[in-house]
Amino acid sequence: MNKDPAKLSLSNFLAGESRDPLQAPPSFTAWMQVGAWAVELYEPEMLASADARTSIRYDGKSQNVINLCSYNYLGLANHPDVVAAAHEALNTHGLGACGSPMLSGMTDLHRELESRIAKFLGREDAMLFNSGFGGALGTISGLLRKSDVAILDNRSHLSLRDGAVLSRCRTEKFEHNDPMSLDAALTRQGGRRQLVIIEGIYSMDGDFGKLTELTDVAESHGASVFIDEAHSVLGCRVPLIYGTFSKGFGALGGFVAGSKETLQYLRFYAHPYVYSCALPPVVIAGLLKASEIAIREGAGLRKILWENADYFHEKLRELGLDTGASTTYVMPIVIGDRERMYRLGHELRRRGLWVAPVDYPAVPQNRICFRACVTAKHTRADLDEALNILQDTLVPAALQNA
Ligand code: PMP
Repeated sequence: MNKDPAKLSLSNFLAGESRDPLQAPPSFTAWMQVGAWAVELYEPEMLASADARTSIRYDGKSQNVINLCSYNYLGLANHPDVVAAAHEALNTHGLGACGSPMLSGMTDLHRELESRIAKFLGREDAMLFNSGFGGALGTISGLLRKSDVAILDNRSHLSLRDGAVLSRCRTEKFEHNDPMSLDAALTRQGGRRQLVIIEGIYSMDGDFGKLTELTDVAESHGASVFIDEAHSVLGCRVPLIYGTFSKGFGALGGFVAGSKETLQYLRFYAHPYVYSCALPPVVIAGLLKASEIAIREGAGLRKILWENADYFHEKLRELGLDTGASTTYVMPIVIGDRERMYRLGHELRRRGLWVAPVDYPAVPQNRICFRACVTAKHTRADLDEALNILQDTLVPAALQNA
């Protein structure tokens, strides 16, 4: 193994080094110790809600930060009406669902949210998962069979790839967002049932999936399409829609909406649904309120979100920062060098700006970056202050001296 710690990554520690699988590879533990100063940026403790400004523990102290990390896109996580609805459900339904939805975890609140989601998305039915990750994994693995082929964009989220692996189907990749590459992949894998798996907005790159072009190509091969709408609600023409409640809805969980027959099948074959506890009623009650607000005030909130995203993009561009292919409220700020990224990450936190470190293998080595998410709750003052901090810390002149 390469001994230079700076050249190692998480992909170097996948071989079992010891006879005991319960023991972490000693080389991994040693690598973590050397890089402890960088690893410190992970799992930061939030000391308040996921609001546009919040506080986190940094360097042993409470640090006020502008929050460009949380997915609270519409500000619903801490909306007072959402919090009040959750409080009320705590009194009526208690804390947990205490069972799989199949056996005992389903409540009147869950059913109400199912029909609300189905109606909102114009589908016959919807089902809820206790995590977005589990929902994607459960849906893919619940529907695909060994003789099928999953055709995935090469930037697909791990929940989708893991779902395909779990189904034991054949997997094939195509170049990110490239209809020609998809066409070639479908041709290579002809003669089997094929499911093309794409995303509405890619969570690391922040670009839109080319849904129309890719769906056209899939249809020309008679292949079905699955769209992960974790970061978007584009409401596409495909029969099944998957999304999460952890982002725009500000809570937790996943959902799939589609035909009654497909979902009836999935309710029995998606293992994370059948064999795992239902979402807590408190969360469901909060989500019912959040979805009510999203339906009632969504247009206005989305307008502010997009205005903030466009403003932030424009200003980042003016600063000469590389945001890759992003055209949305999810933006990588590419640094391209691991050590520099972690060093700058500390500097940003010290100065009161909270962005997420994104390292290889989550992104290619030369695209190691910070990820920033803007929300409808950020004011221009928040964004300007964030931009000032980025300018002082990251612009090329500052980079050389950092
Ligand atoms: N799909 C995509 C594209 C995602 O980005 C994520 C989470 N970042 C998930 C699925 C999983 O969702 P959750 O965090 O709600 O489990």
